[in-house]
Amino acid sequence: MKTCLYTLSIEELMQSLHFEKKFQARIVRDNLVKGITDFSKMTSLSKKDRERLNYDALTTKVVSKEESESAIKLAIELQDGLVIECVRLSDGKDRYTACLSSQVGCAMGCAFCKTGTMGLKRNLDAGEIIEQFVHLTQLGENISHIVFMGMGEPLNNFGPLMEAVTVLHNPEMFDISYRKITISTSGYVPGIIKLRELGFPIKLAVSLVTANDEKRSRLMRINNAYPLSQLKKALLSFQHHENKRITLEYCMLKDYNISKEDAEELKKFVAGLDALINLIPWNPIEGMRFKTPSDEEIREFTSNLKSLGINYSLRRSKGRDISGACGQLATKINKD
Ligand code: SAH
Ligand code: SF4
Repeated sequence: MKTCLYTLSIEELMQSLHFEKKFQARIVRDNLVKGITDFSKMTSLSKKDRERLNYDALTTKVVSKEESESAIKLAIELQDGLVIECVRLSDGKDRYTACLSSQVGCAMGCAFCKTGTMGLKRNLDAGEIIEQFVHLTQLGENISHIVFMGMGEPLNNFGPLMEAVTVLHNPEMFDISYRKITISTSGYVPGIIKLRELGFPIKLAVSLVTANDEKRSRLMRINNAYPLSQLKKALLSFQHHENKRITLEYCMLKDYNISKEDAEELKKFVAGLDALINLIPWNPIEGMRFKTPSDEEIREFTSNLKSLGINYSLRRSKGRDISGACGQLATKINKD
């Protein structure tokens, strides 16, 4: 098994690559951070070193690529043959965001989510998380933002996630500011508390889906362990310490969570929170019983939100247009 070089210190890089001098390891690191992973292309290394290390440093590889107007989705094969996905999203101007996975599959089993049908295969290690970012930078644009909204529940893989975030944030490495990193959770309360305790100004997003406990428990198993009252308490505490807006992702399901009562329950849940509701129409998944609301139904729900004074944004789910919902590409490949 190859070791991911991005997780190594300069001293460890020297040892791992059998360098005598620190500057050689520094050259390699600078190249790696620029996305140059093939040693033979690291022109500032000596010819001897380039000939000795004639391979690509990455431990993972791209096995498929799908492109749409606003997104490029990559399927990445890990060393044990499992496949994950990551996406580069574009805002149409010059901002690029990397959407990364934290696990292979997910244990949470949310009823509307493709990744949930896979179960949890395993956690990713820090290197596997970082390398997704590297593959996405190798597509050629400068990526300024990161969201952990790919496969998996990031807060259930806390250690490796934070190890990866540390490297992505490190000014001597990728230099992504904490404020430009968002962790999305299904509402794993102990993880939210741990994140608050760390005190990094990382942004938090929560997949709320509905503000009704009974409905939420039916859709998301996590709600049985951490019901809405506990989730809200954790969010208030997070906000009290971090003092920044939390995004609540609201996957809209026809005939399920977009009635006037749903809007009113949402109003109660957000009271006291500085939150933005991010509305995402459900992306159809074959074999699932849910339906995507029509434009008219979406308009009706947003006008209810508006009249209740709830902050929301409606995002036509970028990236989902290319190969469907969260995890769809990788679940397809893992099955083959
Ligand atoms: N596990 C984390 C991170 C994954 S983010 C979490 O759940 O927050 C994946 C986001 O996509 C979540 O907000 C989820 O609610 C949403 N999602 C999952 N399946 C979807 C689908 N079929 N259509 C639209 N959104 C979906
Ligand atoms: Fe896991 Fe998030 Fe999908 Fe739920 S929505 S199954 S937590 S990836």
